[in-house]
Amino acid sequence: MRFTFCPLFSGSSGNALYMGAGDTRILIDAGLSGRTVSDALNSIGVLPETLSGILVTHEHSDHVKGVGILSRKYHLPIYANARTWAAMEKQVGAVAPSLRREFETGESFFIGDLSVMPFSVPHDAADPVGYRVYFGACSAATATDMGYFSKTALDALSGVDILVLESNHDIDMLRENEHYTAALKSRILGRHGHLSNEACAEALWLLYRTGVRHAVLGHLSHENNTPELAMRTVCEAMQAHGLRVGLDISVDMAWRDHVGGIYELG
Ligand SMILES: [Zn+2]
Ligand SMILES: [Zn+2]
Repeated sequence: MRFTFCPLFSGSSGNALYMGAGDTRILIDAGLSGRTVSDALNSIGVLPETLSGILVTHEHSDHVKGVGILSRKYHLPIYANARTWAAMEKQVGAVAPSLRREFETGESFFIGDLSVMPFSVPHDAADPVGYRVYFGACSAATATDMGYFSKTALDALSGVDILVLESNHDIDMLRENEHYTAALKSRILGRHGHLSNEACAEALWLLYRTGVRHAVLGHLSHENNTPELAMRTVCEAMQAHGLRVGLDISVDMAWRDHVGGIYELG
């Protein structure tokens, strides 16, 4: 049995990540319309009604927009910590008590054959988390929506086989963006905002030293970044550390507007 990992959509306009092994299939976030997420799942051969549940990282709409609709339509359990439940209640709408699952950040739990470890990330939401998911000896993770790369995140992600890592913005593009207010800029650049391309590169170097060899850049800003710029910044930083990108470490992209690569682990 193999462990499948597929970033369906990633970016400030909406996030959804698929992971599955055998009969256990999960979605981490559903920040686009229910229809868009269903279509994306179908496109990789996963019927939405066969999902085991939807895990929520935090209550921002680019992560929860389709959660309630998908849960009601396909009777899918929703997993979130208590403060995220309270914060997302309005956006998600009515959820049957039988579909409501609550976990403690930092405590792992099982969904079928997958073991899930939610870990805290620094972001301006009620109790935001990243997830590391284990299937046997393999693991995959998502770590986006982070103002900085914390020690908690580094420990939680140590040696993970593959992860989506936030590469949100180019600092100069953000600073020069005339459509953003000063307040919004300082929110994004702050300790509870988003990880820049440069900070992503530093995080990936720290992760490389723990054994990480596959990263997928994600949660790119549509206005303050481009996939080419994010990729170039991270790859040049890896090369500056003496790594050969593609040999010592692989760096891929999770896309804002189309389904990304399908990765098979194990
Ligand atoms: Zn987000
Ligand atoms: Zn967010």
